[in-house]
Amino acid sequence: MGVTNSNVSEWLASYDKSKITIGVVASHSSLQILHGARQEGFQTLGIVVGEERKRYYSAFPGADPDEWLVLENYAQLLEKADWMRKRNVIVIPHGSLVEYLGSEKFKILEVPTFGNRGILHWESSRSRQRTWLEKGGCSLPKIIDDPHDIDGPVIVKYAGAKGGEGYFIARDYRDFRRNVNLDYEFTIQEYVLGCRYYLHFFFDPTAEDGFQVQGMGEKSGKSLGRLELLSMDRRDEANVDEFYKLGSLRDLREMSLEPSFVVTGNQPVVIRESLLPRAFQMAEGTVASSFELEENSRGMIGAFCLETIVTDDLEFRVFEISARIVAGSNPFVGGSPYSDINEPFMSTGRRISRCIKKALEKGMLETILS
Ligand code: AMP
Repeated sequence: MGVTNSNVSEWLASYDKSKITIGVVASHSSLQILHGARQEGFQTLGIVVGEERKRYYSAFPGADPDEWLVLENYAQLLEKADWMRKRNVIVIPHGSLVEYLGSEKFKILEVPTFGNRGILHWESSRSRQRTWLEKGGCSLPKIIDDPHDIDGPVIVKYAGAKGGEGYFIARDYRDFRRNVNLDYEFTIQEYVLGCRYYLHFFFDPTAEDGFQVQGMGEKSGKSLGRLELLSMDRRDEANVDEFYKLGSLRDLREMSLEPSFVVTGNQPVVIRESLLPRAFQMAEGTVASSFELEENSRGMIGAFCLETIVTDDLEFRVFEISARIVAGSNPFVGGSPYSDINEPFMSTGRRISRCIKKALEKGMLETILS
């Protein structure tokens, strides 16, 4: 049994609201989260395993936390819950926290966290993601159930693989047999040809202005909160991004080389402006449908990313969703071509702290924490 809403209410009741501290594991997108928290006037706490990593933060004084919590391993974080609550800490989860701590432990971490932990259940399985996204009106790459049916390029993905590790491309059953590791659970997806765009959205259920998401199902006709597009990136992936330099796939295979999809960095991008309405339509559907998912009545809260490919007929295919801040927002510590239009210097990290600040002012903290 994970943390419940009443646990969070109880903890918050004893918090000194004038001394909220933003806590984050020192990795992933922590520089912008810490920097953004400071911009919004919060105290900051860096969580780290071992002393070694702390040193690197002194190279970025604008993000160097006011205080450190040094652990021997991530599991120890659970034992420090009391200590953190005494310091009025709100933890901002990111991909590395969930990965290092493990989703089961993250669910029982007894500290208020930003966003909805319940969404993890839906995010953590490809088939549940598909149910959610399709309900929201997104088109996804086709799934090939039987490897014998592979006819044209497909991408084979292993369950729980991080950063695209181990993925491979196959053109037919023979390719598949040659590369597959049957010890792991895998999914075979149509390989979508086009350009990748990772769209960083933010949903603030406490804001009543701007682009208001319209509910569906029982919430039909209701405005659920404000949706913003904060930025957009494209990942650098080794070695697939550079493979074209070595010749055709056939040439590469003769050299016993297979493309790999390991994320090494991120680049800022924008899409054609005419694609923005469809991008918002998909994001609105994704937020609206998140409230309709079983056991998840609180829906999506805060940052999320739709990972897409735009084909040459200008159609989006969404191949994945991340339901929290993504590292792809790191190029935008100083704002982006989208967020700058509304307010300069608004990173996703800062937007999270702004959301907390506004919710504090309105007495709505419980609405955005879990
Ligand atoms: P994922 O783990 O689903 O985020 O995928 C990792 C990388 O694999 C992506 O960033 C893309 O480069 C590539 N990829 C994933 N799914 C597809 C797809 N259906 N078609 C083409 N490329 C894909």
